[in-house]
Amino acid sequence: MKIVLATQNQNKIKEIKNALPQYNIVGIDELNIREELPENQNTLEGNALEKAHYVFNNFGVACFADDSGLEIEALQNEPGVFSARYAGPQRSDDDNMNLVLDKLSNLNHRNAQFRTVIAYVGENIEKTFEGTVKGTITTEKRGENGFGYDPIFVPEGFSKTFAEMTMEEKGKISHRKKAVEKFIQWVEMH
Ligand code: IMP
Repeated sequence: MKIVLATQNQNKIKEIKNALPQYNIVGIDELNIREELPENQNTLEGNALEKAHYVFNNFGVACFADDSGLEIEALQNEPGVFSARYAGPQRSDDDNMNLVLDKLSNLNHRNAQFRTVIAYVGENIEKTFEGTVKGTITTEKRGENGFGYDPIFVPEGFSKTFAEMTMEEKGKISHRKKAVEKFIQWVEMH
């Protein structure tokens, strides 16, 4: 079964293909859609739906899109939808992590979660699926693997940061994996 993923991010396509080897996941590049997808909403749900609707409305293919972010309790769920550009438009992982560590520097309350929302849009249908992983923010960066905020996030029940885990270890418990699983369960029922 072919499932279209509304993204041009090759890493994301690779990661989701990896998680779902039994499905034929194609990015919109393969459909010759080259334009940048809009992401103008202020929630993860809003952005995921906006991207999927854009592809469906303009190109007539049913598709899914995802949006993820880190939500920190003591920062009223920031950086959330602004995770990629929290410290500015340069979208630097290091700058973003330093800003978080600065803001939490005097705080013991360091609970956070990663959250992914997947939106599916097709003919007369719109659905969203959510995956979360709870954890805490460290006081310094640890580990070299992964991307984004992985070096400062320790998932609940573990002592390693996401960046100290292998891709397989992180992949089993990640927010993205949980959202994708819910989406696939639904696909298989329809
Ligand atoms: P995206 O919606 O998956 O592109 O994620 C937006 C931003 O959230 C990324 O640029 C990262 O800063 C952050 N993020 C999302 N997922 C993860 C993750 O698994 N680890 C670390 N950071 C993440």
